[in-house]
Amino acid sequence: MPNRTEQLKATYGNPFDVLKAVERAAAQGYESLSEDDLFMCKWVGLYTHRNEQGYFMLRTKQPNGFVTPEQLETIADIAERQNRGYADITTRQDFQLHWVHYTEAVPIIRRLQSVGISTLGACGDVARNVVGCPVAGVDREEILDAGPVANEVSRYFLGNPAYANLPRKYKISVSGCTTWCCHPEIQCVALVGAQRRVSATTRGGSASGGNGESEAGFDLRVGGGLSTQPFISQRLNAFVRPGEAVEVIRHITELWRDTPEYREKRHHARIKYLIHDWGLARFRQALEERLGRKLDEAPSDFQEPPDTYRDHVGVHAQKQPGLYYVGAPVLVGRITSPQMRRVADLAQRYGDGKTIRLTNRQNILLLNIPESNVEKVLGGLAEIGLSINAHPVRRSVVTCTGTEFCKLAITETKARSRQIVEHLEKRVPLDEPLRLHITGCPNACAQHQIGQIGMMGSKTKVDGQIVDAYDIFVGGQMGRGAAFNHPVLRKVPATECARRLEQLLLGFKRGRKERESFNDWCKRVGDAELVRLLTEGGTHPLADAEDVPSPQVPESDGPVY
Ligand code: SF4
Repeated sequence: MPNRTEQLKATYGNPFDVLKAVERAAAQGYESLSEDDLFMCKWVGLYTHRNEQGYFMLRTKQPNGFVTPEQLETIADIAERQNRGYADITTRQDFQLHWVHYTEAVPIIRRLQSVGISTLGACGDVARNVVGCPVAGVDREEILDAGPVANEVSRYFLGNPAYANLPRKYKISVSGCTTWCCHPEIQCVALVGAQRRVSATTRGGSASGGNGESEAGFDLRVGGGLSTQPFISQRLNAFVRPGEAVEVIRHITELWRDTPEYREKRHHARIKYLIHDWGLARFRQALEERLGRKLDEAPSDFQEPPDTYRDHVGVHAQKQPGLYYVGAPVLVGRITSPQMRRVADLAQRYGDGKTIRLTNRQNILLLNIPESNVEKVLGGLAEIGLSINAHPVRRSVVTCTGTEFCKLAITETKARSRQIVEHLEKRVPLDEPLRLHITGCPNACAQHQIGQIGMMGSKTKVDGQIVDAYDIFVGGQMGRGAAFNHPVLRKVPATECARRLEQLLLGFKRGRKERESFNDWCKRVGDAELVRLLTEGGTHPLADAEDVPSPQVPESDGPVY
């Protein structure tokens, strides 16, 4: 017996037609939207707000994080006129607008379409925004510019009714860089840049991408994902040429779409479970049967990169001589209309007038800036509070939506994250990057499992009152040896978190050996010492905090991620 969501999807018709129901509601009233309509609204990027009936969150799609100044100005304008003056940058390199009134949803979506922004499939059981390296095409060390491939993959799935009823959300990354900043380790399907020597047998097939004795393409990974049960994606040991990317991802998607047993339970309806259950050999065989050919073998010397941290903030030389890109930290991803307008203006005035990018750390980049203009861009960014001279935690913090808007949230996140960052900036001078991820419930939209420090929303009791709390995790590692972090302290009252992280980080600064990383230090000193540092001198000692079971939340369809 299919679950209710599967029944609804099977009978609703074209899910993208829900926009007609929203349009009708503008004339007939919010009540004319049925529960089914409201559920299907996700397929056009609309999510109902937590408390405010009649208001939605609207998510855009920005494949590979690509944004033009015109698009940014349009979002600034919509946000200012209709959405309380700000937008949130997400971990999938797109935008979320809040406070979208149901009567204005369709006009806003049409306005976005007029500048080339789609919201189709930004949420729902579809291929979500295709993420990639935000400096694709300009990175001096990239193996290949994968931006066009990411765009091609995105175009193939965008609004395509054949892929509008997948078992659940479905996440793709396509990148050609060497540092994996878009986290292919946690995607359902990921193509990562790979260089392969061209032998006599493979040369015949290397019509495109050939480069003398080697060709650039992709190493294929499958089965990653976070949420309540995280998995690291695995290499399928296959090499995919740029021209084959759509074909291969299409067949993987169809294989997944057409395996009905994973539709029975929503929480089990992710390709990571299929890969786990089947194993790579069976999956590869099934994929090759669909492709009607063998996949090429991946290069035998392929290596996953070390866990290099790269948030792209600051001034960086591009591979194009004389040109630079500038990355600006956007605290908790929330950017105001005046900031968006100014960034668009800086890109037009001092850059190439067309290239802005969003990162999965919720920051924003301006590309193709001649050296003579770099200082002007930096001055302009500093004037609007986006100085590149930012504390590592301001640069790195990633935060989900939380109780402000998200119906599944246990804790407030954005304001708390801001308070934590401002506290640490004043008290803990750090000269090295640190990945801090703060998420409001186990659904992990802010990817807390990959943080060197991760925080997950919970509840506890202080002085008889139930209050927001966080579980604190340490040690998340990406790249070679990728591993999720582990919990060291549960149910820390939210008001205590900033000070406890201060104590932890000061302990790290005092006790680390020369150039020892935070993760290595955590491993060396052990959890007991981390707990001691986290708990010493608490005004609400954790031993006194009564245990309050955390609310059970259903699996999210991803308000942020
Ligand atoms: Fe909402 Fe996702 Fe954050 Fe949970 S993790 S509070 S579902 S945005």
